[in-house]
Amino acid sequence: MIERLDAFMARGNAAYYARANPYADFTTAPEISQVFGELIGLWAAIVWQSMGAPPRVVLAEAGPGRGTLMADALRAVRAALPGFAEAAELHLVETSPGLRAEQARRLQATWHDAVTDLPDGPCILIANEFLDALPIRQFVRRDGWKERFVADGRFVERDTTVALPEAPAGTVLERCEPALAIARHLAARFAGAPGAALFIDYGPAESAEGDSLQALRHGQTADPLAACGEADLTAHVDFQAFAAAAAGCAVHGPVTQGRFLTGLGLYQRTVRLAQGQPPAQAAQLMAAARRLAEPQWMGHLFKAVALCHADLPPPPGFSP
Ligand code: SAH
Repeated sequence: MIERLDAFMARGNAAYYARANPYADFTTAPEISQVFGELIGLWAAIVWQSMGAPPRVVLAEAGPGRGTLMADALRAVRAALPGFAEAAELHLVETSPGLRAEQARRLQATWHDAVTDLPDGPCILIANEFLDALPIRQFVRRDGWKERFVADGRFVERDTTVALPEAPAGTVLERCEPALAIARHLAARFAGAPGAALFIDYGPAESAEGDSLQALRHGQTADPLAACGEADLTAHVDFQAFAAAAAGCAVHGPVTQGRFLTGLGLYQRTVRLAQGQPPAQAAQLMAAARRLAEPQWMGHLFKAVALCHADLPPPPGFSP
């Protein structure tokens, strides 16, 4: 069998996320500290207020994993701004049946297969480490541009008619078409109805060349082309291309996750939570916050970007 890389990656991740416990291989921000989801809940509540507090709003999450982020967000929102919790109708975009079941244990929601299936009307969409799991295409510069296919666990190159810029021999370029389609869809959607979408993911702030395809298997980096479906396949998000595809709506960021979370009060909230805890738990909460925000861990490589209806003010965490 020979498959284009994006088809290979889509097949691998569909099988991988359908497994009983994909979380054995990786840890994401909401699993590191409850404060991550809480701050994002408050972010959504403030955005809802800035929309004029519509009585009904679609609160959506794409790729919710175990549902931890949204459970933490809703708990924080119910305490801080119950009007938003009442207005919010929860919609989850998830393709894995196993993870849907896991989410249903924690959340009452309506499930969808794609962002394009979300119901109309005012909308706030959250997605953490969702875009990085979407399938990419890769192109390699030889005499002309070639596209990478996968056969028997290795790359095979074929001619391509895709128009790409001049580059030195050996250059690798990546393109994530499903991510660009989501950006275009949201831009069109937010041109008509109030809306905002927050994406947090990893990748450089500006488009970079190079092969960023990565596999994690049993918590270790692995050969991405081996054992399709046994490893979590991800690639860096090209935030510049994503923002360009969202032309028409207001794009805020990308800003680093460290700046975004500290701007939302990560450390203040963590200190408050740590008060009254035994010293070991308090230290663990502080260490978790630092892991999310400090540049040597997740604070720099991870970025936040928001796509918003053009009339909305800059959302929290993105002010210059
Ligand atoms: N946001 C979660 C999970 C990240 S893992 C967290 O931060 O922990 C990626 C998530 O996206 C999983 O829930 C996976 O099943 C889902 N996913 C992957 N590809 C998808 C696709 N094409 N459509 C919908 N969901 C997808």
